[in-house]
Amino acid sequence: MEKASGSEGGREMNEGTTHYAGCIQAGPKHYECALQEVGRLRNTITDLRVKLAAARQETEIQIFKAEKKPWVGLTDEQIKQCSYDADGFMIDREVAMRAVEAKLKEKNT
Ligand SMILES: [Zn+2]
Repeated sequence: MEKASGSEGGREMNEGTTHYAGCIQAGPKHYECALQEVGRLRNTITDLRVKLAAARQETEIQIFKAEKKPWVGLTDEQIKQCSYDADGFMIDREVAMRAVEAKLKEKNT
């Protein structure tokens, strides 16, 4: 994107008029500056419209996915299976968490 004019001070153009950021507010001598600003704003609007359309599309995809396949959690029995071994001893916490993760992944993909 084009750098805003005036960041290094005013710039000289024709007829000895000094231009600077926001100089379009100063009147007809800055008509060309105003036209340039309109062009920049048009480009910005076009850019934002493209981004907005992409964001809307992405949102629709996410909504579609969410509606299509709701999240499925674990039952109490499945949590128990992930927490205790066959002899009823508590499984190491990290191993149990990995088991929960694997079970949830299995049910949600
Ligand atoms: Zn100007």
